Amino acid sequence: MLKSISNNSSSDISKSMLTPTDNLTALAEVLKTYWGYDGFLPLQIEAMASVMDGRDSLVVLPTGGGKSLCFQAPAVCRQDLAVVVSPLIALMKDQVDTLRECGIAAEAIHSGLSADRKRTITDAVRRKEICLLYVAPETLVRPQMLDFLAGQQVGFFAIDEAHCISAWGHDFRPEYRELAGLRDQFPAAAIHAYTATATPQVQSEISKTLRLRDPQVLVGDFFRSNLVYHVAKKNKSINQIVSVVDRHRDDSGLIYCISRAETESLALSLEKLGYSCTAYHAGLSDIERTRRQEAFINDETRIIVATIAFGMGIDKPDVRYVIHAGMPKSLANYQQESGRAGRDGLESECWLLYSGQDAMLWRRILENSPPDSRISGEAMLTAIHGFCVSTQCRHRGLVEHFGQDWARGKCDACDVCRGEFEAVADPLVLGQKILSCFVRVKENFGAAHVANVLVGSENKDVLSRRHNELSTYGLLKDFRISDVRDWIEQLIAQEFLRREGEFNVLKVTQSGWKVLRGEKTPVLSQAVKREAKATRESIVDSWEGVDATLFEHLRVWRRQVAVARSVPAYIIFGDVTLRDLARRRPTNLENLRQVHGIGSKKLDDFGSQLVELIAQQCSAQQLSTDQSPTEPPRIDPTNAATLAAFALFDQRLSLADVAQRLTRADSTVRQYLEAYIQTRRITDPSPWLAPDDLETVRTIAQYAGLERLKPIHDALHGQISYNQIGIAVAVLRNQAIETVSD
Ligand code: ADP
Repeated sequence: MLKSISNNSSSDISKSMLTPTDNLTALAEVLKTYWGYDGFLPLQIEAMASVMDGRDSLVVLPTGGGKSLCFQAPAVCRQDLAVVVSPLIALMKDQVDTLRECGIAAEAIHSGLSADRKRTITDAVRRKEICLLYVAPETLVRPQMLDFLAGQQVGFFAIDEAHCISAWGHDFRPEYRELAGLRDQFPAAAIHAYTATATPQVQSEISKTLRLRDPQVLVGDFFRSNLVYHVAKKNKSINQIVSVVDRHRDDSGLIYCISRAETESLALSLEKLGYSCTAYHAGLSDIERTRRQEAFINDETRIIVATIAFGMGIDKPDVRYVIHAGMPKSLANYQQESGRAGRDGLESECWLLYSGQDAMLWRRILENSPPDSRISGEAMLTAIHGFCVSTQCRHRGLVEHFGQDWARGKCDACDVCRGEFEAVADPLVLGQKILSCFVRVKENFGAAHVANVLVGSENKDVLSRRHNELSTYGLLKDFRISDVRDWIEQLIAQEFLRREGEFNVLKVTQSGWKVLRGEKTPVLSQAVKREAKATRESIVDSWEGVDATLFEHLRVWRRQVAVARSVPAYIIFGDVTLRDLARRRPTNLENLRQVHGIGSKKLDDFGSQLVELIAQQCSAQQLSTDQSPTEPPRIDPTNAATLAAFALFDQRLSLADVAQRLTRADSTVRQYLEAYIQTRRITDPSPWLAPDDLETVRTIAQYAGLERLKPIHDALHGQISYNQIGIAVAVLRNQAIETVSD
């Protein structure tokens, strides 16, 4: 495979001659040509700029934040070799396959390759045919490998999953520590570290170990609005699980359990109910685990029921739901595990089902760990339990836990913000009733017993202790016991009650006494409806205009192509692309090119098959074809592609030249030009429009107005193109503004 970019005009410019605008233009061009993407995700521009400039960087972006492109796109633009360090063969393979399907020359060297294959790759590196070389850390630090790379032109190292360096992180890999030597061994190469683990402690350990030089530190926003969070108490959990799975019959999903035995039994129950699923845990052999993981990645198995052993190495972008069938070990684990949903940015569900037993199960597991980790483990359990029973926005809880401020108000993507809970009418009186019952039983009992007393149960424990004679007996008899249990948990989370001793008896705290004295009011709420709303705005939006039948046909086609090429289906096209195809329904190559995620290689490889399939299906279903999205793409003046276009307009390049340089359709570039004319307040349209054409449009606009282009176009009987009318109208609006302000 040839180093893919070598024929490309912008990348032929030697790096020293590139200005930041050139870099941006080249990166935007590479994104469109190879990935078929129209813009950058947040912080990608900054992260890519560091790589282009050769300045070390530490990039912390959430899962799905687009970290890989931060080093892959610049590697394509640069003339030297990028060495990517990745911890798992599965991850390397996934990335290399994805890059190759986009037409980018990438290879991976790892222990699973034959000596011959390794030699072929190193020869290709010597011939400068490779952009990105993936290596495992243990392979990279071998003297032979270091010697080999010393003779190559290594531009930079990208350390993926960089948190593996940190003993504080959850995936510590001792071999990552040995990367410390890279700085001395390759003094001229930049080092860039990428991770989704946000704690400042881990960040500083990465920076120190890799000896980063004045790194550009970029930390993204950890709010992932496409994930809808729900937390519920377990209540016939198989039904709760099935109701989520049923909403996603054809999708991939993950279900996490605390113990191996639970994964086996839940997988069996689901299988009996006819779902395609398998268990996954550390008790299985390596071969069996790999087999099950691959079946999931290749969509042969839809659901994986796993312990925390399942995780890193899974970059599957289209996991549509993650259910925790028990409380996770910590909030950090929850963020990581639930974050495996919706990497592709499409809406996905995260459900956490918990019960009081879960913490006890974790404590039993923790008993075998060293005293230090038992203490920190206990603190983590308290935090995650607080998260479960809290009625604060779930996203906010996660984001703040990782030290980021929340300045958003309602997220509209969790059970709390979507109004699935409501505040109780008189929380002070309710709180006092509950706390006084704890006082009456002399603070010697746990939540279950006190809840029984409060609802007036005739349970034998209550009667034998004569707690039916207490003044608080039956005080809450009009409520369900599950609600009373929830309120007790909420009082614990707000520290009005505290668990103590081996038997977890509950004591009223100092602040609990303030509630009893009426000096403080707790926040108490109850669930109004547990069922997830079927839709919310973003879900409707992402399906807007998509023909579901055509989408299914495209899915089948994608599956066949993936099997033939022995790669996972998402490597051929992601769901975002399939939805865009089923929305726009292009029947020619030019329109196909406008679809999200279709770059040049995919256009060459699949273009004619796709347009044929779409034309056939649309004709069979009598669907209109070649739709443009309902709204014209909004031009964001801070977007890199827009900035790149503006820079070219500054050089007075023609619309056609800019379209060619940016590999964009004329109609898109016309919108950039209109935005440019508007932003820069341009009143002289040359060189984009002949003066005569401007005058013609001015005459017509006197009666047709400047609101819409179509009436002007119709009045001119097509004599002047839409593009030209658009430019003229933008200029005439500026002239009108100037006249008014004069
Ligand atoms: P991370 O490694 O941060 O979890 P990835 O690099 O896997 O994220 O990217 C997540 C998804 O977003 C991938 O499907 C990727 O192709 C897509 N993506 C990345 N950058 C862009 C972009 N600029 N525009 C559109 N999609 C993007």
